Amino acid sequence: MKFSQMFIPTTKEAPKDATLASHQFLVRAGFISQTGSGIYDFMPLGKIVLEKIRAIVKEEMDNAGANEVQFGFVTPLSFWEESGRANTMGNELLKFKDRKNTGYVLSPTNEEAVVNMVKNRITSYKDLPVNLYQINTKFRDEARPRFGLMRGREFLMKDAYSFHATEEDLIREFNLMEATYKKIYTRLGLEFRVVAADSGAIGGSGSKEFMVLANSGEDTIVVCPDCEYGANIEAATRKPRHFNAWFENTNAPQSMEKVLTQDLTTIEDVANFLSIPKAQTIKAVIKKAIYETNTQIVVFFVRGDDELEETKACNAVEALELIDANEDEIIEAGIVAGYCGPFGLKDGITYVIDKELEDEVGLACGANEANYHFINSDLSTLKDVKYFDLIAVQEGDSCSCCGGKLEYTKGIEAGHIFQLGTKYASAMDAKFLDNNGKSQPFIMGCYGIGVSRLVAAVIEQSHDEKGCIWSKETAPYMVDVIVSNAKKEDELNAGNKIYNDLKIAGISTILDDRVNARFGFKMSDFELIGFPYAVVIGKKLPDGLVEIVNRKTLEKEEISLDEVVNRLKKLI
Ligand code: ATP
Ligand code: MG
Repeated sequence: MKFSQMFIPTTKEAPKDATLASHQFLVRAGFISQTGSGIYDFMPLGKIVLEKIRAIVKEEMDNAGANEVQFGFVTPLSFWEESGRANTMGNELLKFKDRKNTGYVLSPTNEEAVVNMVKNRITSYKDLPVNLYQINTKFRDEARPRFGLMRGREFLMKDAYSFHATEEDLIREFNLMEATYKKIYTRLGLEFRVVAADSGAIGGSGSKEFMVLANSGEDTIVVCPDCEYGANIEAATRKPRHFNAWFENTNAPQSMEKVLTQDLTTIEDVANFLSIPKAQTIKAVIKKAIYETNTQIVVFFVRGDDELEETKACNAVEALELIDANEDEIIEAGIVAGYCGPFGLKDGITYVIDKELEDEVGLACGANEANYHFINSDLSTLKDVKYFDLIAVQEGDSCSCCGGKLEYTKGIEAGHIFQLGTKYASAMDAKFLDNNGKSQPFIMGCYGIGVSRLVAAVIEQSHDEKGCIWSKETAPYMVDVIVSNAKKEDELNAGNKIYNDLKIAGISTILDDRVNARFGFKMSDFELIGFPYAVVIGKKLPDGLVEIVNRKTLEKEEISLDEVVNRLKKLI
């Protein structure tokens, strides 16, 4: 392709809200154009990169035996009513009506559509397993679309869905998809980590996320430096800490006692006053849980030096969402803020206690009475308590696999695979006959890759202060042949020749033949766009010499005209 024929609107201006390098550079280098909140058009270079990534994803999915299909971007709301997600997806699900008043949604994911496709078409275990996938537009009305392609409202996703007769076969496919995903991210040249994950609104049991490691990533991942353990903070666990093990000097607990803690409402103050570590106290975190049809005040109790992990907490009470409860709501619920504890809490208040505190003795906690706390509590005396893992693992906590000191790192969620089980097939009454002739709901898995997010993720991992640095697998063109002054016929001729020779050699090339752009401008476009190599045809052409520039290192190498194509073949 020739620059003079291509639409590549580069600019010095970055969008005002662009904090990420990928957002700034993809806009500045003319890859993408924002049209609305979280909605982007792909311009020619952006489209080439998107298609390259899509092609890799497709190739590896096909190699794994999955079948490509295409679901409508618009799906009937009735599917979502059948599965129950019309209500549980919340505001991310964009619903609308047609002229006949029939409800539809813009697909945010397609479990319902695939079940509808397979239902009554696969009727026997003999026709299982099957894995169907598409690479198609999704729409999620995200609360805070941001960071360019990272968190759009409209985005491109590869979504695959597998159907199985047995749980073992689902696990086999799940492992195959994990291996396939690893191949995809490796081919894209990404540094990534596979981690245990929460299953979110999609549901199901086991799930794993594929995290592209980057400081700008929105996800916190907990990793062990000494073993393979890695998990999204939403799902991370640690070796349980136990009070008795820590405070060996503490004798067997005395009986619980109420003590005056005048005006002491924080964990810090109470622990100081009682001369105990914060870990020997119980903290109450009061939230408002949002459900399909109602809301409820819920209290979560965690160890005083722990923090509540909201996703875990939300799952524990099976809420759609948790929000902060305000003072009035707390009072109205009959909770004494600052002095809230699990003993003698007003009847009817829903509360959950962190799993690690189960049967713990000797802790201090609020006495549900202003200015009073209990000491020497014994949690084993509480009846009918719900214990759940509620806490956010902290750096330095011990790895539950090997005891190593856990660390945090940041990642971009580039993919997510789920063992769904029978959730959707049961809800939508999609069944097959098993080998005993018995009717069973399909056992399903689902597997997503954020294809458009990957465009941004590649650049988050690979850029410098001048712009993008594409890898071989992702570059819009491998070589940018820059004619310094296209008004000079000999330069332009040499440029054309190298360009044609490179094309014959099978190397994707763009020729910067623009007559009215100066050399400096062409060079900064090369750096901003990030083609892996440039060939600069300039002053030394009369001596038969040109220059190869490596975008990543910015190193220059002078080379004779006859050698340049061979040299590039070698480099690439
Ligand atoms: P996130 O936690 O980032 O909101 P998610 O867990 O809701 O993502 P999934 O339902 O697992 O996302 O979707 C599969 C993949 O689609 C994700 O791993 C991610 O790469 C991509 N994806 C999800 N939401 C967006 C978005 N708003 N913009 C771009 N890509 C997205
Ligand atoms: Mg996810």
